Amino acid sequence: MILYRDQLVERTEIHIDIEDRGYQFGDGVYEVIRVYHQQPFYLDAHLERLKRSAEAIEINLPYGFNQLKVKLAELVAQNQLVQGNVYLQVTRGVASRTHHFPVKSEPILVAYTQQNDRPIQALNKGVHTVTTEDIRWLRCDIKSLNLLGAVLAKQKAVQQHAHEAILVREGVVTEGSSTNLFIVENGQLLTHPANHLILHGITRQIVISIAEDLQIPVKETHFSKEQLYQADECFITSTTMEVCPVIQVDDREIGRGQPGKITRKLQNAFYQLIS
Ligand code: PLP
Repeated sequence: MILYRDQLVERTEIHIDIEDRGYQFGDGVYEVIRVYHQQPFYLDAHLERLKRSAEAIEINLPYGFNQLKVKLAELVAQNQLVQGNVYLQVTRGVASRTHHFPVKSEPILVAYTQQNDRPIQALNKGVHTVTTEDIRWLRCDIKSLNLLGAVLAKQKAVQQHAHEAILVREGVVTEGSSTNLFIVENGQLLTHPANHLILHGITRQIVISIAEDLQIPVKETHFSKEQLYQADECFITSTTMEVCPVIQVDDREIGRGQPGKITRKLQNAFYQLIS
């Protein structure tokens, strides 16, 4: 079953109009919410971010948080989802094709579930990454359906047998194509400031607060590709990748090709939260 507007229906029962603005312009916003033990993880934070993204592009969410939470709980239960993701998107709706906002259109919400295991091998061994120019627009804080910059970057990584593309804008490391990025330098965590150039990741925020609890200093600051190459440790964070060690960037090994100690501490603390 999927959630279409405010109804649970069979996926084959609905159709998407060819003039849905999400389909034609990427005119909409989305969230990916992790489900552990049948429970959505940090659901409030995801809904808050959905609302912020929608407001930034002047879409009114069609349902309130309480109604949405009830519907998402029904969606998870109906699909007997134990471990996986909920994908949720809201588009500006259907209207005759013009670039500007239509005078009248009703936002359309769709959500569905995917059964997925945790990425255990990547979490244990770490992943390889490549750097690439960050060619995305200047509102990366909006979780927009427009993902071509991320799609092209990730494809470049896949072609080089890497797990993630790390984006660099004017010499500054911003984030991964679908993850936030941290490095460890002299015992301190560094990550790009939460401004318009990155998505304000929920996992990023969880990691920052775990680090504060563990008295690991965190600095939200710019750092260069050279600093990334020289980092003692590096890891990426996201709803689906959790806290995942990075052991190679381009042709440089990070931390002698092994996940670092601070990364392991943060992974363990994150694991406590989800178990
Ligand atoms: N940065 C980008 C560009 C993303 O697309 C994502 C997730 O999809 C993240 C960071 C991580 O965000 P979160 O931890 O909220 O999943």
